[in-house]
Amino acid sequence: MRYISTRGQAPDLSFEEAMLTGLARDGGLYVPAEVPVMSQADIAALAGLSYEEVAYRVMRPFVEGSFGDSEFADIIGRAYDGFGHDARAPMVQLGANHFLLELFHGPTLAFKDFAMQMIGQLFEAALKKRDERVTIVGATSGDTGSAAIEAFAGLDAVDVFIMYPHGRVSEVQRRQMTTPTDANIHALAVHGDFDDCQARLKDMFNDFDFRDGVKLAGVNSINWGRVLAQVVYYFSAATALGAPLRSVSFTVPTGNFGDIFAGYIARKMGLPIDKLVIATNQNDILHRTLQTGAYSTKGVTPSISPSMDIQVSSNFERVLFDAYGRDGGAVSQVMDELKSGGEFKISQGAIDVLRETFTSGRASEAETSATIKDMLMRTGEVLCPHSAVGVKVAEEHLGAEPMITLATAHPAKFPAAVEAACGLHPALPARMQDLFERPERFTEVANDLNELTTLIRGRTKQ
Ligand SMILES: *Cc1c(COP(=O)(O)O)cnc(C)c1O
Repeated sequence: MRYISTRGQAPDLSFEEAMLTGLARDGGLYVPAEVPVMSQADIAALAGLSYEEVAYRVMRPFVEGSFGDSEFADIIGRAYDGFGHDARAPMVQLGANHFLLELFHGPTLAFKDFAMQMIGQLFEAALKKRDERVTIVGATSGDTGSAAIEAFAGLDAVDVFIMYPHGRVSEVQRRQMTTPTDANIHALAVHGDFDDCQARLKDMFNDFDFRDGVKLAGVNSINWGRVLAQVVYYFSAATALGAPLRSVSFTVPTGNFGDIFAGYIARKMGLPIDKLVIATNQNDILHRTLQTGAYSTKGVTPSISPSMDIQVSSNFERVLFDAYGRDGGAVSQVMDELKSGGEFKISQGAIDVLRETFTSGRASEAETSATIKDMLMRTGEVLCPHSAVGVKVAEEHLGAEPMITLATAHPAKFPAAVEAACGLHPALPARMQDLFERPERFTEVANDLNELTTLIRGRTKQ
């Protein structure tokens, strides 16, 4: 399978190359040149299989040419081995026709583990074959960094440096980054805020001497390997509820549009998904875009669902590429407008295409808190604030077909907001209860490119 850029200018790549590259050289994102379609019989045959087996059958065509059959099966096995639930992505029922897909049983209690664990193993396998090592540097406000650390800890072919804003992440998030003991893991507490960390990461990618010297690689949410791993749970959930004989809808709490874009790919592969509902918090750029046809950025207002506090939704470019009939020139043009003026208008043809697949809603802060309380009362289920945004918006879109809302994090990751909403302090799962006793290990660094690159060069094994 070949991968092409959404801006039409970069060379097409294999799965392995697209994964190791991340961002295309023309500034675009890689997408499959053609999305493989699964027959209704092949989809029906997924019912009752293990999560790993579903993962193999759904992802196999996308990695064609990069990994052998048994090699790929082994990669999947290792990726999901550390999950705290045998089903990996179990469902619970919230109402007569409303289901919650729990994506928080991975090592860091958020759905990002599904993708990050998979690409940790994919990177390791690909790099070993090439006899190469890379240095992964990431900037995080909390969830992504811990997921990356857990995924790459102890692997031979990668050194991982995660920058987080010193004193500005929650204690659970910090401890998830500072307590792994593996020598290839480096937690860097930067004296600055999250924007500073992101800006230094960008500087590092623009410092070609450093970039080539340490073989810098990125694993942020635009990495195609991450999107692909998320396609799987749409299949496992839908087939558990009767697909392909019965169609289902999904509601997805959205920030960077990565998770819901995976649902869009599942639909293109032939999974009968009726509606894909975009759920936003008060930072509702995607909801406004679908309503008005104009993508127009405003400042970010911090919310109790911080992983969705975003105004530039990077993966949205991928769906725009399809909506514009895969015209890379048209995508380049609107992305240039966004860069220069902070907004662009979507053509009538393209917005019509988007509205055929997606619908949307937003939840205010008060509605999010009220939903946490209401769900506890009605069902006994304790939701994290991101999942509560999804449940609130889903309830406005219930129809004849089953609605599946994605629960993106465990409530214990956001204890303050959950306790304020419903009075209950969510406990960490038993397997993590010693998190607060484990010794921490991190390095404080100034918000300074030179200091950061010197430190990273000194610690990589290149
Ligand atoms: C990252 C994240 C989201 C948003 O996911 P996108 O793929 O960026 O849309 C939602 N909830 C939680 C808990 C997250 O960590």
